[in-house]
Parts: sequence; structure tokens; C-alpha cells
Amino acid sequence: MKIHEYQAKEILKKYSVPVQDGIAITNLSELDNAISVLQSRGINQFVVKSQIHAGGRGKGKVYNPQNREELILEGGVKFSPTPEKAKDYAEKILNNLLVTHQTGPEGKIVKTLFIAEGLNITKEFYIGILLDRAVSKNVIMASTEGGVEIEKVAAETPEKIIKEWIDPAVGLQNYQARKLAFALGLEGEIFKNFVSFIQLLYRAYEETDASLLEINPLVVTDQNKVIALDAKMNFDDNALFRHADINAFRDLNEEDPLEIEASKYNLNYIKLDGNVGCMVNGAGLAMATMDIIKLAGGEPANFLDVGGGANKDTVANGFKIILSDPNVKAILINIFGGIVRCDRVAQGVIEATREMEVKVPIVVRLEGTNAAEAGILLQESGLNFDVARGLKEAAEKVTSVLSN
Ligand code: GDP
Ligand code: MN
Repeated sequence: MKIHEYQAKEILKKYSVPVQDGIAITNLSELDNAISVLQSRGINQFVVKSQIHAGGRGKGKVYNPQNREELILEGGVKFSPTPEKAKDYAEKILNNLLVTHQTGPEGKIVKTLFIAEGLNITKEFYIGILLDRAVSKNVIMASTEGGVEIEKVAAETPEKIIKEWIDPAVGLQNYQARKLAFALGLEGEIFKNFVSFIQLLYRAYEETDASLLEINPLVVTDQNKVIALDAKMNFDDNALFRHADINAFRDLNEEDPLEIEASKYNLNYIKLDGNVGCMVNGAGLAMATMDIIKLAGGEPANFLDVGGGANKDTVANGFKIILSDPNVKAILINIFGGIVRCDRVAQGVIEATREMEVKVPIVVRLEGTNAAEAGILLQESGLNFDVARGLKEAAEKVTSVLSN
């Protein structure tokens, strides 16, 4: 699960990680109050920060959502030396469309603004903590090239990314924190502040079951303070049951509507860009099915694992979700009947097809328990299913339908 920057900063604050202070608002009527509260904390310059689940906001562009050609503002993160400037920017951004290199051309409507303290920055760094699956350890990545895209640094100057692997059984050791500080060229008070910062940050990463904690940039201020200016946190969905407070940060506005619908039925659905809808049981078979569609020259429109114990209703719900995607031009159903019986799946498919008035071709491959009975049901349904014998044939059938 992803959360917003302001929410990540709330979490980090609980772990005493120094963060850029600020107040989130969802309505312009809350702005004056936010500014006076910040002023009462001694803050007299501000940054207006768009809150969307995508990065690159600083270099993004704000458009009129009614007329996507009309550019309103360059940049979705605006330094504002006065309250008047902050108000001007807030008005220009809130409820408008922010397009960044991560949102894709369709952009995202900005529904929340983080009105933050404007800091005087002397240096920007990059810090990322994530799981390195290849070695079963957490890794802290650090770089002096803060504030820019880390993917670019990795591609062009990989030597500028320092990595320190943390054994999860032992945790981050003092010497490792110091090693990172040395490698970043820090000295004196800033060195000490960084070592403390990274230790607190690692603790936050570990205790919240985060899968990614990225601070880009981590800044040094003119007061030699080390502060998280930006914060991105992703969480392991399988651990959210033990973090009710984090789960409450879920923002459905930021999620794909079909994925939300699928999660209601416990379906594992991820929308993709292609036009072949797939319904498969089991994540491994689903991955293999997507691969074989690509091998046959097609592009999957989604990943959908209806689960090992799929019944008639799960199949019907999954089918409806696939059909709600307007990009879907053909469907491949690939079910291996182990726990689930193929005839039950066939019934679900037949019922959903009748109910939904399906206009796209459907290729079905059912194998395993009661596959023969399923084949008869499909044939006798009077509906136009294309039954395939094997995985390869199924993929070829579904892609040849598209090229015709
Ligand atoms: P992102 O573009 O989505 O990664 O958003 P960030 O929160 O990283 O902000 C983008 C950029 O705005 C940062 O890299 C900073 O250069 C700048 N910025 C943000 N807050 C401040 C601030 O308080 N003071 C100054 N001087 N610059 C800031
Ligand atoms: Mn950033």
C-alpha cells in the first residue's frame, strides 16, 4: 500500500525522525488557519506541496482538469516566501490536474495540499531503505545526488550510490550508520545529526513493516540540521493487519477503481496496459499465462488470480471486472481444476457471459478435475466460446482473434 508524503511524515514524527513541518488541507477555507498555526510555530516562509501518490511533483505541470490543454502552473511543489504567495499557489493547484513523469499523461487531481515550512537548504542527499530479496537483507542506499531521480543516478553514475546491507536479525549497527555518514562526506555536527537520523529512520522502516522508505531529498539546513524534506513509504500489504493506524491512511482516490472493486471480492487483480483480459487461478499460472500471451505476440490487459479455491461467484465477479475495462478486446480464461472443479468454473463463466452481454471473443482452457464435464457445459451453453486444448493453443487463439 502507498500513502501520501504528509502521512509518511506523520508516521516518521512518531519515531522522532526530523521532518519538514507542515499541515495538510483539502479545502482552501482551511488555508488561513494552517498558515497562522505554522506562523505561531515561528515559520514565516512556506512550501505548497501537492499530495498525490506519484513522484516528480516538483517538475510536474498543473493543468485545468476541464481543459487539459490549459497550463495553470509549472511545478506541483512551490516555494512561497510569503503567506500571500502560498495562497496564490494553493489556489492554482488544489483540485486541478497534476501531470508528472510518474502519473502518465492522464495526471492526477490534487485533492490535498501539504502546507509546509520553507527551509533554507545547503545540501540535498538521497536515502532509500528497502528489502534486497536476492540476499534476504534490508539495504540502505545513500547518495550525494539528492533531489534528482535516483533511477537516473543509477543509470548514469552508479558509483555515486552507496549501499549498506542490514541483517534483519541484528538490525542497523552504529558502525554502519557512521560508515554511511563518512561515505557521504559529512563532518562535525552534521555527521552526528545524520547518524542519529538514519538510526531513527531505520527503526521506523522496520517497525511499520514498510517495504520502501525513501527520503529524496534528505536536506541539511543552514542551521546544520538534517531533515526529511520529502518522504515516500510503501507497506507490505500482508502486514497491514497489524497496523490499523497505517491502514487508515489508505486513499481510495489514488487507486484504480477496478482494483478497489476486485479487492472487495478478495480477487488479486492488477490492471495493465494491454488488450487481452486474463482470468487465471493461482499466481504462478497467472504469471505463466501473461508470459505466454506475450510470446504469442499479445499484451495482457490485467493480472487476475481468482485464487486456488475459486467458486462460481468469484469467477463471475472476476469476469465482470475484466469486462469493465474498455481496453479488453479478447479474453483468455485459463483455469487448472485442482481444489476448484472445472464444471463449477464453467458455470460461473456461462452465467456471467449471459448477464454481461459479452461482445468480445472468449478463449477458454480448462484442465484438471471435471474438465470433460466443463467442456460439455460450455459447448451446450449456446454461447460462442472458443475452447483450447493447451496453454500454447489458448494463447495463439486469443492473439489471432485480435489480429483478424
Ligand atoms: P517531488 O518532486 O515529488 O520529489 O517533491 P519534493 O518534496 O522532493 O520537492 C521537490 C523539490 O522542491 C525538492 O527537491 C526541493 O528542491 C524543493 N523544495 C521542497 N521543499 C523545499 C523547501 O522547504 N525549501 C527549498 N529551498 N526547496 C524546497
Ligand atoms: Mn522528492
